[in-house]
Amino acid sequence: MSDLANLEARFGASNYAPLPVTIVRSNGVYVWDESGRRYIDMMGAYSAASFGHCHPRLVQALTEQARQLDTVSRAYFSDRLGPFLARACTLTGMDLALPMNSGAEAVETALKAARKWAYKVKGVPGDRAEIIAAEGNFHGRTISIVGFSSVAQYRDGYGPFPPGFRLVPFGDAAALKAAITPNTAAFLVEPIQGEGGINVPPPGYLAEAGRICRANNVLLLCDEIQSGLGRTGRLLACQHDGVKPDGLMLGKALGGGLLPVSLFLARREVMAVFTPGDHGSTFGGNPIAAAVGLAALETLIDEGLIERAATVGAHLLNRLASIKNPIIRDVRGRGLFAGVELDRDFASAGAVAARLLRAGVLTKDTHRNTIRFAPPLIIDQAQVDWAVDRLTEVLEDVAKTDTLLRQ
Ligand SMILES: *Cc1c(COP(=O)(O)O)cnc(C)c1O
Repeated sequence: MSDLANLEARFGASNYAPLPVTIVRSNGVYVWDESGRRYIDMMGAYSAASFGHCHPRLVQALTEQARQLDTVSRAYFSDRLGPFLARACTLTGMDLALPMNSGAEAVETALKAARKWAYKVKGVPGDRAEIIAAEGNFHGRTISIVGFSSVAQYRDGYGPFPPGFRLVPFGDAAALKAAITPNTAAFLVEPIQGEGGINVPPPGYLAEAGRICRANNVLLLCDEIQSGLGRTGRLLACQHDGVKPDGLMLGKALGGGLLPVSLFLARREVMAVFTPGDHGSTFGGNPIAAAVGLAALETLIDEGLIERAATVGAHLLNRLASIKNPIIRDVRGRGLFAGVELDRDFASAGAVAARLLRAGVLTKDTHRNTIRFAPPLIIDQAQVDWAVDRLTEVLEDVAKTDTLLRQ
């Protein structure tokens, strides 16, 4: 390990296990380490770097705003917040937006809104509201959110957890229907599960879930923090199913890779439960975040990045699906959001990610022994080809070594 990596490991809590590379510079789809070696970023900071690193227009929005007006708090209006929220609402078709910082905060906001809506509008008796989520979900790391995670490690040691949450299998609309009671406030779901293993549900699942929710006066809350903003080849992944949710969470790419910026957006009736003092955030919607968020939304449209994710993403998925290697169990994804699941008996996705790093490709393993690909949406076909060629070589190498070991 380098001196700087040692320093991070020595003084930092070890709640992450970084791959052995110290990144010192980034630009577009590439990052560089201390020795000047270049890597292609196929991870895209879990989708936070959708615009490519240090995008000039976003850096300009950030630096110009930083010189003009910084944080003043929501105790006052600012000239930046209105245009950002207006653009976000117009683009997504939502009525109102509430700005936060991290994704987890946007999800917490959605949970609060859903519970309050259940009591104030739906008429659920006090403290009895239930929220249904999907198995394999990832919605962040707060205590209430990990309380309904199905990953044991995310919960271990953090109880007691708030009650009022239950899980149903992801992709199973009948199970959702069966789980709904008169006290159900909302169904919270990722249209494509990211951390859970790039899990794409069966076609029509979300549309059916939407119908079930509407028929039972239950809010459909789509967490598009990772799948949204063009990642899957549509502005929102739920649009593939023609679904318009009652509440929507955006984050990650919304900050242009520069800042944490998140939003909870909703129909008027849902957001109307909040009155002054009900909920808030010191930094949420600050002028710099708003300037960057607005520039990110404009860049997404002006540069045609959604269409690009659709075409280049189709190419990525084709290339991944045509790799012939017995180690691969499954290739899943949509747009520039793909997972390659490896056979556990032959190779760990973590070990393959480490080998890919040595080959000049940044990726990361996620659940279900899957290698995750979420490159910046500005990536071109030749760059995708280069990365997939490296993956093909690494997997061939692993398969060969494994065959040797078995002889
Ligand atoms: C990353 C993520 C979150 C949490 O976002 P943070 O900014 O890390 O709090 C929530 N939901 C989904 C789907 C995510 O991918």
